[in-house]
Order: sequence, then C-alpha cells, then structure tokens
Amino acid sequence: MSHILIIGAGECGARAAFALRERGFDGEIMLIGAEPHLPYERPPLSKDGLAEAALPKFIAAAARYEDARIAVLTGATAESIDRARKTVTLSDGRSLDYDRLLLATGARPRAFPGVPENAERIRMLRTHADALAIRAALTSGARLAIIGGGFIGLELAATARRLGAEVVLVESLPRVLSRGVPEEIAAFVAELHRREGVEIICGAQIAAIEEAGDGARVLLADGAGIEADMIVVGIGAVPNTELAAAAGLAIENGIAVDERLCTSDHDIYAAGDCCSFPLPHYGGRRVRLEAWRNAQDQGALAAANLVGAGETMASVPWFWSDQYEFTLQIAGLAEGAETTVRRDMEEGAFILFHLDGEGRLIAASGIGPGNAVARDIRLAEMLIAAGAKPDPLALASPETRLKKLLAA
Ligand code: FAD
Ligand code: NAP
Repeated sequence: MSHILIIGAGECGARAAFALRERGFDGEIMLIGAEPHLPYERPPLSKDGLAEAALPKFIAAAARYEDARIAVLTGATAESIDRARKTVTLSDGRSLDYDRLLLATGARPRAFPGVPENAERIRMLRTHADALAIRAALTSGARLAIIGGGFIGLELAATARRLGAEVVLVESLPRVLSRGVPEEIAAFVAELHRREGVEIICGAQIAAIEEAGDGARVLLADGAGIEADMIVVGIGAVPNTELAAAAGLAIENGIAVDERLCTSDHDIYAAGDCCSFPLPHYGGRRVRLEAWRNAQDQGALAAANLVGAGETMASVPWFWSDQYEFTLQIAGLAEGAETTVRRDMEEGAFILFHLDGEGRLIAASGIGPGNAVARDIRLAEMLIAAGAKPDPLALASPETRLKKLLAA
C-alpha cells in the first residue's frame, strides 16, 4: 500500500495524517481540505479565539507537515469518489489515486429555513471566516440576537458579553442545552448567563428571521420582534455525508462505520463528526459524536486501522464547554440513567453521577470555575470505562476519593 488520501483537513483529518507516520506508514499521505487554511482548532472560535485572533489557531505549523511528508491541499474540494477505479476527483478536475481513503469531512451548521446563504447580518459559526465576520459586528453596545441555546449559542453569548455587546438568546425548547446536558446543569448555566446580562427566551417559536435595513430582525410567533445588528444561528450541525452517499457507502445518521471505523467499503474509513459508530461500554449503540476529543481519538484510531492494526474504539465520550469563568465537562452518555446523585464541591462546583438500573455508572456531568471538576470527571470516565458499579452514597460524598473507588 503506498497512497493514503484523507478528505477533510480538520481536527480529525490532521490528527490521522500525523498518526499514520507515528504508526510507521512510509507511503504518500495527502490531506485534502476545502477551507483556505491549514487545519486549525474550532473550539476557540466561539470562545477567546473569536475575541482575539486575526489568524486561526493552527493545529500544526506548515513545517511539521513538510517534515512528516504530509501533502496538504488547501482550498480543494473532493467532488466524487470512484470506488472501482480507486480515485477521487477534485472540484478543479484533478483526479487522485488512492489505495486507502479516510473520510473526515466533519459537519456543517444546520441552516435556518428561508435565510439566504449570503445574508450579511444573519450568520452561522463553524469556520474561521465565520468567526471574523461575527467578530467585526460585535463592537461595544452592538445588539446580538442568537437563535439556539446549544453550545454555539451559549459560548458565543458569553464571548459577546465580554466584548460589550447586548445579547438576546432565543431557544425553541423550554430550556437551554436540552441535548445531552442534565436539567440541573442547564439551569445553572442559564442563571449564569442571566447574571451576566444575557436575555434568554425559552419556549419561543420563531416565525421568521430577516435582514432589515442596516440590521436584522427576529419575528416570534406570538408577534413580538427582536431588533439586532446581527443574528447568529446555532441550531445544530449536519454531518457532511453527501460524498460518501454518492459513492454508495452506507449512511445511518452519518457515514456508517464499524467498531474499527471501516465503512461498507473495506478500503474506505470514516472518522470524526461525519461518522456514526457503535459505542463500546453502551452495548454497541450507534451514535454520532460532535466533539473535539472524539475527532482526535478517531483520527488516531482510523490511522492505526488504515495500516492494518485492527484496533477497536475504546474511549468513553467526553467534551467540555467554557462559558465565562466556568467549565462544563461531561463524560459518558446519561440517557437511560435511573439514578442520579449530586456531589457538591468547593467554589460552588458540582458533579452529577448517572447510574443505570443495574447500578453501573454511565455518565458524569460537572460544572465549576476553571478546572474545578476536571480531575473527578477524568476519574469518573475511568470508572465508566471499567464498567464500575460504585456505591451512589460514596459518589455523592465529597469526602470519598474517586481514585479509591477506581482501585476497588
Ligand atoms: P471538522 O472540524 O468539521 O473538519 C472537517 C473539514 O473537512 C472541514 O474543514 C471541511 O471544510 C472539510 N471538508 C468537508 N467536505 C470536504 C470535501 N468534500 N472536500 C474537502 N474538504 C472537505 N468540541 C468540544 O468538545 N468542545 C468545545 O469546546 C468545542 N467547541 C467548538 C466551537 C465551535 C465554534 C465549533 C464549530 C465546534 C466546537 N467543538 C467543540 C466541536 C469540534 O470542533 C468538532 O467536533 C471537531 O472540529 C470535529 O472535527 P472533524 O475533523 O471531524 O470535522
Ligand atoms: P447544538 O449543541 O446541537 O444546539 C443547537 C440548539 O438549538 C439546540 O438546543 C436545539 O434544540 C436548538 N434549536 C434547534 N432548532 C431550533 C430553532 N428552530 N429555533 C431555536 N432553537 C433551535 O448545536 P450548536 O450549538 O449549533 O453547535 C453546532 C456544532 O458545534 C455541534 O456539533 C456542537 O457540538 C459544536 N460545538 C460544540 C461545543 C462544545 O462542545 N463545547 C461548542 C460549540 C460548538 P433541539 O434539541 O430541539 O434541536
């Protein structure tokens, strides 16, 4: 095997390219990315990176790709895959051969129906270019309306407040963070934002959003209107599966892969935000994760298996979110939990431990200032991976050292 092509030069594609060299692969590696930049980190775009950076935070400098003999084609979109010939055609007409292919095409923001793609004052946030356009509008006193109380919306609200903008956030469900975040933590986050001056409107149906004169307007179904200088829509992400689907690969809420990240074609793998996979520790339930560490872990795993290691997914889902001086971290999946216990910690931090009907720890969700919950969430992740059934009372007690439970 001499040629490995990676389509998608994001977190996952970049990690996979370097991991191929770490695994001793000596052939050609080509990373194809539609964006004009070398791979960069997305998490800062809604946080400090939005406020501070004219340039994206690159995952690696150009010299590191050269040293590792990784060819990076930026501004190049893969348009089709010919599985019989084992070629990929790019938007400029070039055709590239592969022996093995990795699809790391990520996800794109879900568009709000009826909003034209080129609307200047109604934006979404996924790329560095999006961040620059939003940043330019966030002068002190500017009015920002955010649609969607998910991670993009809330992180952006916190950053916008730091920049002195006025923020109104509209969520259609009765509470923010309704996907995968327990109610107690969501309530804590909402209260934090209200204290910081964000107006949060939950349970509101939106009739339309539109540009109006020099600004934009949100029209709620009850007839109320919100005038803004800019609207940012953060209503979820859609996996980029079209290329794979057109090539006839199986799709199931993402490009469907097995536990080794192999698609329905044994020479094509998929990883990161674009794929759905059977999750270990949860009975092989098929999920798609949209999280930074998953993109990294799967990039490394795909690389190992592209060169024949035959390894399977072992990690527990984990992600974080920074808002103001607080960090939220969640390990595992809480759906299906029958018991939840709370552990209160110093400085107002707390962790919720979620156990299933058999007493097995399946998730831990925590929030606190800075790194307050990081260590215990890490230990909880290890307990989850071990299939542990810790005593709920011991979990709830701040006196119990989780390390001790792990040793037991
Ligand atoms: P992506 O990062 O989406 O990269 C895919 C790349 O493939 C893109 O550059 C795309 O242009 C390119 N591409 C797609 N199709 C083609 C094609 N046909 N040809 C060529 N190139 C193509 N996660 C956390 O856990 N914590 C956080 O705090 C956090 N913050 C975030 C903040 C923001 C603003 C965003 C947008 C995401 C955040 N995430 C966070 C999620 C995390 O960044 C993603 O899970 C991660 O970027 C996924 O990596 P990926 O490589 O799978 O996909
Ligand atoms: P998200 O976390 O899925 O949240 C979207 C929110 O918008 C949900 O609460 C959703 O509710 C709501 N919504 C959907 N349709 C709506 C509508 N018509 N009107 C009002 N609200 C609506 O997605 P996101 O915040 O847009 O983030 C996009 C991507 O970036 C995701 O992949 C996310 O994981 C990633 N990201 C991650 C982080 C992090 O992990 N810290 C930070 C930023 C971005 P429903 O439940 O009804 O759909």
